[in-house]
Amino acid sequence: MKFHDAHCHIPSNYFYNNIDQHMKEWLKLGLEYVIGVSSTHNESLKVLEISKKHEQIIPGIGIHPWKAKSPLKEETKKSFSDILENNSLIVIGEIGLDHHFIKKTELYPFQEDYLKFFLSLAEKYSVPVNIHTKGAEGECSDILSSYKIHNNKILIHWYSGPETVLRIFRDRGYYFSVNPSILGGSTHIKVVEENDISQLLTESDGNVKYNINNERIVGSPKLVPQIIEKIASLKSETTDTLSTVLHANLLRYLNLT
Ligand SMILES: [Zn+2]
Repeated sequence: MKFHDAHCHIPSNYFYNNIDQHMKEWLKLGLEYVIGVSSTHNESLKVLEISKKHEQIIPGIGIHPWKAKSPLKEETKKSFSDILENNSLIVIGEIGLDHHFIKKTELYPFQEDYLKFFLSLAEKYSVPVNIHTKGAEGECSDILSSYKIHNNKILIHWYSGPETVLRIFRDRGYYFSVNPSILGGSTHIKVVEENDISQLLTESDGNVKYNINNERIVGSPKLVPQIIEKIASLKSETTDTLSTVLHANLLRYLNLT
């Protein structure tokens, strides 16, 4: 089965240190593309470097909201702008807001500043974005609506917030990436139920660990074929039809069609 992973932490040490081996295994299973998202500026540089070696890795550059702890330095901003100036097939992520895992409210203005900075770059360079939103879905929705992202290429990763915001995002035409948590029957299933398959993508969020049927499983692109089977059964589609649609969605999201 051909598949993609629209959100995997490729430049994290877990994958980065052994990437050639991992890629060999994933390609054998049918992986076509993996968006390698970054959590820091340093990881952004790393994923750019690996993507030059493996054409199936689409680099995702950005700073995760968990890492937004002080004002963004001018030189870091300049570096991100330079990267976008010089690369065309690229995604901005993982970026977003997190008021659930981050309890220190004094950090929220930093999260907001980082998100706005990256969205303004996405607007300027017509680049798709890969969004994290946890416990701040309404705030995220307000900020996203004030930017003109090219053709609405906004991907909401692992959505688990209120259904009201889920429907707002759906009605705006955003993409949702479905991840391995649905294999364990989590609330994330709502994302599949509420959306047409034309708005879905698949992801592992590797190397996050999942509890699936009382087993602790490491997230990686290897799990995506099981996600496709699960979505196919929820949507009463064949896996062949579904993977064809998912592939077309990814190409559209990446501005490749
Ligand atoms: Zn992630």
